[in-house]
Amino acid sequence: AKRTGRLKTVVFSDEHERDVREAALLERTLRAADLEAEFSLVFQPIVDSQEDRTPLLECLARWHSPVLGAVSPGRFIEAAEQSGFISTLTPVLLRKALAAIRHWPDDVGISFNLSGHDICSPERVLALVGILMASGVSPRRVEFEVTETALMMDLDAAIANLHSLKATGACISLDDFGTGYSSLSQIQKLPLDKIKVDGSFVRDLASSEASRKIVRSVNALSRDLSLSCVVEGVETREQLDILQGIGCRLIQGYFYSRPLPEADVPAFLAAQGAA
Ligand code: C2E
Ligand code: CA
Ligand code: CA
Ligand code: CA
Repeated sequence: AKRTGRLKTVVFSDEHERDVREAALLERTLRAADLEAEFSLVFQPIVDSQEDRTPLLECLARWHSPVLGAVSPGRFIEAAEQSGFISTLTPVLLRKALAAIRHWPDDVGISFNLSGHDICSPERVLALVGILMASGVSPRRVEFEVTETALMMDLDAAIANLHSLKATGACISLDDFGTGYSSLSQIQKLPLDKIKVDGSFVRDLASSEASRKIVRSVNALSRDLSLSCVVEGVETREQLDILQGIGCRLIQGYFYSRPLPEADVPAFLAAQGAA
């Protein structure tokens, strides 16, 4: 910022100050929030595009604050991660996710997002394991999504903690694959079952040979490592056709469905079954 001259530096620091103020406001409001009442989950189908069936849905958090209105997860998750408040929020969300899944058919699972804070401490992971075991939901219906960035906070601790989650019978998937900086040798050390190809590789699949090459090689890599593979952010028929041509089977994105409120999930699943 120093070399860009006086004006830009001033603009930058104003912006920075605004960001800091906003983060502080979000954090204060989060800490005062009624987590049970203000937070909810929506559920986005992850579809087996060959069978037109939904083996699982990703749980995505929503916050409706009486003070701030609807706050996007991009903003409140980041604020909660930076302040460490996420470790208070995650158990509340996991309970809500496990309560929702009870009303769904037995062969439909959930995929639940974890943050770096959640997986770097053995105590916090054991608390999550406890919630899962107490819920009565079969852990085989549960997957946990972690990002490369979250894992790299403390890789050795994360690996040990992922093993504790896996010991329940739950699966682990690596979210936002391709957007982080981890090396393949680090990924090889992780007890993974699945990788999720980030939507940024899907956006210009039709126009970019490079994007197609990347998705093709990630799909081949997952096959070689015996991992399953989900492609996220699929919005169009054209993208789906290209992905099916590559051999990608599990698809998530607006093409199939936006994230759904809990009440709409049974009808979505039933409509697929009937089709
Ligand atoms: P993510 O885990 O990568 O989740 C996928 C995001 O892509 C979601 O945004 C979803 O609504 C959006 N999406 C799905 N299909 C499409 C599509 O076809 N096109 C486009 N453009 N977007 C699509 P959302 O719900 O706003 O969540 C944003 C991020 O917030 C998530 O990214 C995740 O990192 C974080 N997040 C959400 N809920 C939780 C949670 O319960 N715990 C934690 N730790 N993080 C969460
Ligand atoms: Ca995710
Ligand atoms: Ca993702
Ligand atoms: Ca993402």
